[in-house]
Amino acid sequence: MPITVVGSIAYDTVKTPFGQRERMLGGAAVHFALAASFFEDVRVVGPVGEDFGEEQLAVMRRRGVDVSDIERIAGGRTFFWQGEYGWDLNSRETLDTQLGVFEGFTPKLSELSRSSDVLFLANIQPDLQRDVRAQFPAARFVALDSMNLWIDIARDSLVAAIEGVDCVILNDAELRQLTGRPNLVSAAREVLSWGELRGPSVIVAKQGEYGAALVTREGFFALPAYPLETVIDPTGAGDTFAGGFVGYIAAHPHEELDDGLLRRAMAHATVLASFNVEEFGTERIERLAGSEVVARIKELHAMTQFSGAPLALRG
Ligand code: AMP
Repeated sequence: MPITVVGSIAYDTVKTPFGQRERMLGGAAVHFALAASFFEDVRVVGPVGEDFGEEQLAVMRRRGVDVSDIERIAGGRTFFWQGEYGWDLNSRETLDTQLGVFEGFTPKLSELSRSSDVLFLANIQPDLQRDVRAQFPAARFVALDSMNLWIDIARDSLVAAIEGVDCVILNDAELRQLTGRPNLVSAAREVLSWGELRGPSVIVAKQGEYGAALVTREGFFALPAYPLETVIDPTGAGDTFAGGFVGYIAAHPHEELDDGLLRRAMAHATVLASFNVEEFGTERIERLAGSEVVARIKELHAMTQFSGAPLALRG
């Protein structure tokens, strides 16, 4: 099933203990689209400024991503984000955010983009997420990401947006902040109770280098991150994870959204994210081959198995 993603298309300036890059291609929608393109057709919706280069569009086109709904705003500047990581790559400091063309942006969706069965609402203003969601009344699977900024300044709108989707993908800290519950499982269970008619049925809590957990009404599943010896830049890992997760689900339209499918989606998401962090920005994913993903899935599978019946313990 084709996927439409709405979210930021950005220039990112990033510094980590291992190097830095100025104004490289980034943005939540871009990282998501590149990852999801390994599974399905992807259409990106979002604004860029006059400063956005043809070469950056070509990066997405080369992976077959449909960029015809990327709107170039005359006289505008592309969204810009600057961040810095210390030795603990799980925490980062945002040094600058310039909304540029995102200020006053209203998404314009073509007939084709609106015909997608799967929708990903990347991290943007929750009112915009709701507006876009309403344009997909017949979508079969809708997922949403957000961030602490919107929990701080637009919580009510974010809760309403969450009530209208099937799947919520958040960092563990954001899930705690959103619900005011310190325990991850109970925080996820609370979000599962939102929404009178449909509401979310799948919650994914991303835990950075510690992996990710999946909570549904029926059960729980968790995977560690794929163990890497070298991590260069975690920027976009969360969106790449979401692209792997949603992409895998979209590629299996005839399967029930059951535990088995969701667990396999978690594995693919984990592996895609592991490649993303090996180099700066989109550099690694741009030249990633599907066969490399498959090989790493097999390794992750082997690493997370254990066998044997539990011992009869004393006491
Ligand atoms: P992640 O590391 O997965 O959280 O995603 C980082 C990406 O999100 C970067 O490429 C940024 O361009 C983008 N980003 C950062 N802040 C925002 C924001 N306030 N709104 C939308 N996108 C953002």
